[in-house]
Amino acid sequence: MKAVVIGAGLAGSEAALQLAKQGIDVDLYEMRPLKTTGAHKTDYPAEFVCSNSLGSLDPTNASGLLKKELQMLGSFLIKEALNVAVPAGNALAIDREAFSLNVKRLLEDNEKIKIIREEVTQIPENVPVIIASGPLTSEPLAENIKDFAGEEHLHFFDAIAPIIEKDSINFDIAFYASRYDKGEASYINCPMNKEQYENFYNILINAPKIELKEFEKNAKFFESCLPVEVLASRGVDTLRYGPLKPVGLIDKRTGEKNYAVVQLRQDNLSATMYNLVGFQTNLKWGAQKELVHSIPGLENANILRYGVMHRNTFINSPKLLNATLQCRKRNDLFFAGQITGTEGYTESIATGMLAGINMAKFLKGEHLIELSGFSMLGALTRYISSEEHKNFQPVNSNWGIVDELIADKKIKKNKKLKTEMLSNRAIKWLEEYLQNCQSQ
Ligand SMILES: Cc1cc2nc3c(=O)[nH]c(=O)nc-3n(C[C@H](O)[C@H](O)[C@H](O)COP(=O)(O)OP(=O)(O)OC[C@H]3O[C@@H](n4cnc5c(N)ncnc54)[C@H](O)[C@@H]3O)c2cc1C
Repeated sequence: MKAVVIGAGLAGSEAALQLAKQGIDVDLYEMRPLKTTGAHKTDYPAEFVCSNSLGSLDPTNASGLLKKELQMLGSFLIKEALNVAVPAGNALAIDREAFSLNVKRLLEDNEKIKIIREEVTQIPENVPVIIASGPLTSEPLAENIKDFAGEEHLHFFDAIAPIIEKDSINFDIAFYASRYDKGEASYINCPMNKEQYENFYNILINAPKIELKEFEKNAKFFESCLPVEVLASRGVDTLRYGPLKPVGLIDKRTGEKNYAVVQLRQDNLSATMYNLVGFQTNLKWGAQKELVHSIPGLENANILRYGVMHRNTFINSPKLLNATLQCRKRNDLFFAGQITGTEGYTESIATGMLAGINMAKFLKGEHLIELSGFSMLGALTRYISSEEHKNFQPVNSNWGIVDELIADKKIKKNKKLKTEMLSNRAIKWLEEYLQNCQSQ
């Protein structure tokens, strides 16, 4: 049995090792060094393109829980990362060169894996394939994926607004309403008077922005999707006539008209996550926090996901993939890594692992793994494959996507206790799941 993996990045390397472990022969295609992505600097597999940190190791942190799950499920790359960890407090930071060299050795020493240094320009037919070509997938392959998936199902840029945990919103100030009372009152509205708006505007206009990378400088954002700071730079009132317009939004408790209103729209089915409407942004994360906390009603808001706008090739997974990462319209095709619309180093390793395991199961005629929404990996894959999204944007591990905790309000308001309970629930579920697998 044989499969092709496209891209020897974090996801592709993990997927290839998982396939080989299951006795599957792998042709692993990597275009570097013949062609580069603009962000990678070496020809090593599994290169960390920017920071050398994979984030927290604490399992009561969302990203830390994902790492714990990867360890429990037998991820090769997380094991290597732990082997080459450098001191970084509670976080897992690595010696990136040692890491890539170790992964290179693991791949090269594995007789089931053949590394082919070649750009893939078309999705291979008549052979099972995992596409793990990353956020900077080469243009010819991206074009071919677009032809396969449909033009509207391949995106080249993130345009993400910050996402807020609903339980952290102050409803003494914020109120539910829809504009002109049309339809369900499903938006959460944060009202501002003139002074509050001017304070917010000043923070926004002076906030530091993230420098664009060389290969991102030509990025053209759609007019309807401009960063909030770009809109603000057009004049003090532009936002009040745009996403922050107050018309038709009256707080029935007070009957008052407002000078400006920030709206939040539901982001997941269980209504635990809300995104800030029109707030796609390129501001630095510290500046985003200050800005969000300056909005009345969001003074103590917990930001589950910061806004970003950068080059990122990703498919419209909700329309194309199952939670097993198998493609709905071609069952011997899987996607893994950042191209699935998950974001981050650990998330890329995680989906690479799941795609590798599931491809092996598919080839052996076994049931594919679909993890529970109690686990962070199960929640991530469910999030990207669920058809509830109107405007799908990439996601990283966060507590807003896991199954809600059944507990009273007092516990839910205690963030530390809540995350401890969510983390324990996930680990217990995974332990039982793995025990069941062994006894079958
Ligand atoms: C500039 C930048 C900075 C980032 N910084 C961080 C960060 O600090 N922290 C974080 O958690 N995440 C970061 N990310 C996001 C993401 O986690 C990483 O990009 C991660 O490496 C994605 O893993 P991947 O396996 O999906 O893709 P990659 O690791 O990029 O691997 C994809 C591989 O496919 C190869 N390839 C592409 N097209 C083809 C083709 N046609 N044929 C053959 N091979 C091909 C590429 O050369 C590459 O080796 C960053 C992303 C970018 C673009």
